[in-house]
Parts: sequence; structure tokens; C-alpha cells
Amino acid sequence: MAFEGLADRLQHVMNKIRGKGKVTEADVKEMMREVRLALLEADVNFKVVKDFVKKVSERAVGQEVMKSLTPGQQVIKVVKEELTELMGGENSKIAVASRPPTVVMMVGLQGAGKTTTTGKLANLLRKKHNRKPLLVAADIYRPAAIKQLETLGKQLNIPVFSLGDQVSPVEIAKQAIAKAKEEHYDYVLIDTAGRLHIDEALMDELKQIKEVTKPDEIFLVVDAMTGQDAVNVAQSFNEQLGLTGVILTKLDGDTRGGAALSIKAVTNTPIKFVGMGEKLDALEPFHPERMASRILGMGDVLTLIEKAQAAVDEEKAKELEQKMRTASFTLDDFLEQLGQVRKLGPLDELLKMLPGANKVKGLNNLQIDEKQISRVEAIIRSMTKEEKMNPDIINSSRKKRIAKGSGTTVQDVNRLLKQFDEMKKMMKMMTTMPKGKKKGFRFP
Ligand code: GDP
Repeated sequence: MAFEGLADRLQHVMNKIRGKGKVTEADVKEMMREVRLALLEADVNFKVVKDFVKKVSERAVGQEVMKSLTPGQQVIKVVKEELTELMGGENSKIAVASRPPTVVMMVGLQGAGKTTTTGKLANLLRKKHNRKPLLVAADIYRPAAIKQLETLGKQLNIPVFSLGDQVSPVEIAKQAIAKAKEEHYDYVLIDTAGRLHIDEALMDELKQIKEVTKPDEIFLVVDAMTGQDAVNVAQSFNEQLGLTGVILTKLDGDTRGGAALSIKAVTNTPIKFVGMGEKLDALEPFHPERMASRILGMGDVLTLIEKAQAAVDEEKAKELEQKMRTASFTLDDFLEQLGQVRKLGPLDELLKMLPGANKVKGLNNLQIDEKQISRVEAIIRSMTKEEKMNPDIINSSRKKRIAKGSGTTVQDVNRLLKQFDEMKKMMKMMTTMPKGKKKGFRFP
């Protein structure tokens, strides 16, 4: 997971100060020494670390903390606020031109994920904001780039404008915008050429495209895994082109987090989106506050709720709840529920968004076996309607048939039936338990 080392270390430091009824200057000094080391180790730019430590120290030794009733907690609040500020404060949104189309130039070095991200952004604009985007293939140098964008367009069912590789990128961009105006597209996303390194020819071409298209946004796509390199790349692009935002990709990998924590401070360009995987829906708006909260082990319940709202059909959820209450929950319902949970994304990533999840031993190493879920789904799908409504009728010959149909074994079928039976028993117990005696759990 991204930020793992940093999160571990910062949380360790915070735990030491959390319960303190009195915080002295020496305490703050000691804590900041550890925070400094943690940030440097996470590959955060050293100047950024220096400023951060100074700011937090000033506030932590000040009145605001010393005079409060819970100084330990106050220090943590200061750290969280400054961490949020460091990453950009408020979440900044994507521009909307007063007269459509809004033009977005996508720039970046080869391999950063620019083409994929262009597709993902078009997908997000359409799905979440109900916009009509046009993708533009303006990377005429990398042989496969045009094809790659066209394939993405096909997958997403979003049109791609291309004039092949014999027309200049500036001309392609110009004609694409004309087409977008004529055909009422809301957004034009231009996938520009990438190089292995920044060079003059590339920058000149990008400047020309900027000149001609007058983009509302220029997004730089950088790979979070490259740490300080990402920051340097961002700085150069910003100096030459004037970026309006950065999109950090591969934050699903185990990046130490240095880029995410330094880019805004060094380049004064906000991170607007983050790439969280190779799939085309794995692009999320970047929320500095939520990220700070995740790093400090306070969870990211808001993102979790948003994901759930996007994936789960509310009507169906209510129906399921009712069935659970009345213990009329069938294997079909179970299947339905598994499908909804799946839509949320990889389960181990979801669990980590819960506050305190990092404190649950072993969770970090937890690998939820998605194959196991597929197996359960296959088993239930191989049952007849009657069997699903009333699993008691599943005798050994039926079990054999189900195992064969689902490519599993009779033991697998038995295990599932047993689990389902236990689940039903538990539901019954919960619904018959007198009010007030129900066992709940509180987040730490
Ligand atoms: P480009 O040369 O900058 O256009 O890069 P591509 O779009 O071709 O992407 C390079 C590789 O990075 C591809 O294999 C992508 O699937 C992968 N990639 C892009 N974004 C992400 C991300 O957020 N997470 C992960 N894990 N992989 C990504």
C-alpha cells in the first residue's frame, strides 16, 4: 500500500503524544525529530520537510496547544491540518469553460500513464459528471500511441479524433476542437506526445498546442512511484508550460509517498486526481484532507461511503435489510450482495479505509482471496431455483451436480452451505435480541 512506511512511523509518533495531559517544548522537539525522519524516509523533498517541521513546531508549542485541556490531541490536530495544507488544502475541481468545449491538454513523460489516464478522465467526466468528452490522439511519434487511445475509446465507447501520424499535432488539436464545437462535445481531452526525457522539441510542440488551443486545463501526468523525479519533472513542465494541475498515477503501488507530499509545495500546482489502478474506473479526485487522515490512521470513511453510494443500489440495500430482519434471506440474496460488494473494488483496499484498521494485526498482510468469492458465486449459480430458496433439500446427489456444474468440489459446496446456515442463525439471533443488548462496535 502507498504510504505504508510513513503511515506506520507517523502513527507511532502520534500514539506517544496522544494521551499526554501536558506537552512541553521538549516533547514537541522530540516528536518533530521523529516526524522529520519519517518524512525524509518517505522521500519527501528536504526543503518541504524543513518548512513543515517549522510550521508544526511553532503551532504546537504555541498557546493553541499548551493551554488546551487535551494538548496531546491538539498536537495531532495541528499535524493533520498542516499535512492537509501541504498537499493542497481544499480539493480543487476540474475547470468548466464558459463556452464549451472545455479543452484539457494532457502532458507527461512516456510510461507515466498519460494515455491510460486520458481515457480514465474521459470516463470519469462522462460517468460522474454526465459530460460528453472527445478524446484526441495527438501523439504521432510513438507508433502504438494512436492505436492505444483508439482501443481505450472503443472499450469506453467514447469517440476518438485522429488524423493518423502524418498530420502535425497542432493541426490535429485544431481540427478536433472545431469538430467538438460543431458536434457539441463538452470536453476535449488532448493526449499529447510523451518522451523519455524532457527535451526542447517536445516542449516547443506542447507550447504550440497550448498557443493554438488555449486550454482551460493543462494536466501533467506523473508516476508516483518515481518519487523526487516526479517532483522535478513537475517543476520543469510547470516552468515551461504553466500547469493547472497534476495527476499522480500508480498510487495503488507501494510508493513511499514523497511525490504526493512534495508536489504542491514545490511547484505550487495542486494534485487534482490520483490513479489507483490499471482499470479504467481507477481514477479518483484527490482530497488532501482525506489523504492526511489516511496517513495518520484516522481512516477515510468519506471515500468509503462515496464508493458505497456509487456502487450500491439503495432500493436493493433496503430490501436486503428487510430480508435480514425477517430472516428470509436466501442464497439468491447472498449472491446479489456479493455482487454489490465486488463493485466497490478490491476488498483489502476498502478495509484499509476504516479508522484504526492499521492497528488490527495482520490486516496489512491480509490478502482477500477474490477467487474464493468467484467460487462461491459459481456454486450458487449452479443451483436450481428451489435449491436456492430452500437449501435444506440439497442432498448428496444434488451436491455432486452442483460441484460439477461450478467446477468445484463437494467439500466446497458443503462449506458454503454451512457458512450460509451460520449466517442465517446469526441474523436470527440479532433480530430476536432485545433492543439495547445488541452488540455494537465503536471505532477507535
Ligand atoms: P504513457 O506512455 O504515459 O501514455 O503511459 P500508458 O498510459 O501507456 O501507461 C503505462 C503503464 O502504466 C500501463 O501499463 C498502464 O496500465 C499503467 N498505469 C497507468 N496508470 C496506472 C495506475 O494508476 N496504477 C497502475 N497500477 N498502473 C497504471
